[in-house]
Amino acid sequence: MNDYEVVVLGGGPGGYVAAIRAAKLGKKVALIEARELGGTCLNRGCIPSKTLLRHAEVIETIEKAKQWGIETGEMTFSLSKMLDRKDAVIQQLRNGISYLLKQGKIDVYQGIGNLEENGKIAVQLAEKKEIIRGEKIILATGSRPLVPAIDGIEEAAYFTSDTIFDIEKIPESMVIIGGGIIGVELACIFASLNVPVSIVEMSDRIVPSEEPEASKALAKALKKKQITILTSTKVVRVEQRDGSQLIHVESDNGKAQILDTEAILMAVGRAPNTSSFDGLNLQMDGPFVKTDSAMQTSNPSIYAVGDVTGGWQLAHVASAEGVVAAANAAGQTETVDYRMVPRCVYTSPEIASVGLTEADAKRQGIDYKVVRVDHAGNGRALAQDEKEGFTKLIAGTKYGEILGVLMVGPHVTEMIAEPSAFIHLEGTVDELASMIHAHPTITESLYEAAASWIGKGVHH
Ligand code: NAD
Repeated sequence: MNDYEVVVLGGGPGGYVAAIRAAKLGKKVALIEARELGGTCLNRGCIPSKTLLRHAEVIETIEKAKQWGIETGEMTFSLSKMLDRKDAVIQQLRNGISYLLKQGKIDVYQGIGNLEENGKIAVQLAEKKEIIRGEKIILATGSRPLVPAIDGIEEAAYFTSDTIFDIEKIPESMVIIGGGIIGVELACIFASLNVPVSIVEMSDRIVPSEEPEASKALAKALKKKQITILTSTKVVRVEQRDGSQLIHVESDNGKAQILDTEAILMAVGRAPNTSSFDGLNLQMDGPFVKTDSAMQTSNPSIYAVGDVTGGWQLAHVASAEGVVAAANAAGQTETVDYRMVPRCVYTSPEIASVGLTEADAKRQGIDYKVVRVDHAGNGRALAQDEKEGFTKLIAGTKYGEILGVLMVGPHVTEMIAEPSAFIHLEGTVDELASMIHAHPTITESLYEAAASWIGKGVHH
């Protein structure tokens, strides 16, 4: 039996990062991964979606360029080439992880690990079963797409985010069940390929995890792309008839309709993967593993990070938790600072936010003031022909401390790092307004919002 100081279960952005960190702290480390290194994010999530969204952006730009006097010939799509590029990007990043694990002298077990008592883990490899032991164990087993109990769904042919990135042909039509982040990102990808897309969302707006004005701006943009959005609507039944799939939906006000579609994408959230340690009776928080601020579970030798712990189901949060869990497993004392988790939706326009929303500030009884600057007067946004977005800044009235920022517009997912840094360093609107911002840039809207907040705005 091989003994390790740290064994990590799961090789996604929570797990592989934890393994490397523990190895860098001088520990003897093993990583167990049943599928490909990189987990959901790299293989079936963030990276494939962002690669295909880049294609969508280029297609949209080519279309738009006609109005600028730039004409190309007829546009054609090769789905197989698009998917080949996506696979090449994934492979390159997988190789990178593999290299880093080798550098760290981390033993990688390719198989399914099951936790037993006293730090023992049974690993089912391709040919044999092996038992290894970990003094400390870090669970990073992630999550899987949730499939709700809809009448007729068992007989339906549906995609989830696990399967959609290997779709073999561009479908004639698509219904996306769930208008959360996966739903809207995939809607942009398929709409750019001229697929008529309908989103069915049970909440009263798409991306309900973001502020209402972000949902509104995105809904307007998606409708322009001919995407149909049905909010406050539930799927009651899926029926197979004459080779097509009929989705029976009903809105909260009782209006029923039937959507006829070739493809269905299920995007209603994700459930944690806990089966590999079910026998240990760890304390749970609903379906998720309960952890404390050190990422320690109710068993002091076992830590848990990422989607399996609930909270933010985001790759960058999983990595931050992985780093902290590894440090703590190695005898240090670290905690995760969740105050400035950037939240990014890579649609067009993009949505990026950090810190508190207005609803959070209200709920916490904070005295705050908000400034919103529309991008319609921003030189760079106009030059780009992407003026639909806005920047919203929330700061505490007493000290002008920046509490939250929401940006909607092109590439705002890159720009959110600036307000994140301000929040991290407890920066104020005065400090932000005293910083020269390059002209013309969309981040000038952030500067404008801060200047306006303190009554020194020039353009606002
Ligand atoms: P989500 O929670 O973001 O959205 C699910 C949506 O489905 C919600 O809006 C919900 O109201 C709706 N819904 C639930 N049941 C429904 C039903 N029966 N009929 C109609 N609508 C229904 O979940 P997701 O989009 O599946 O994404 C899963 C996780 O992955 C999220 O936590 C998300 O943050 C993460 N993710 C992040 C990114 C990113 O950071 N860009 C991208 C993709 C996924």
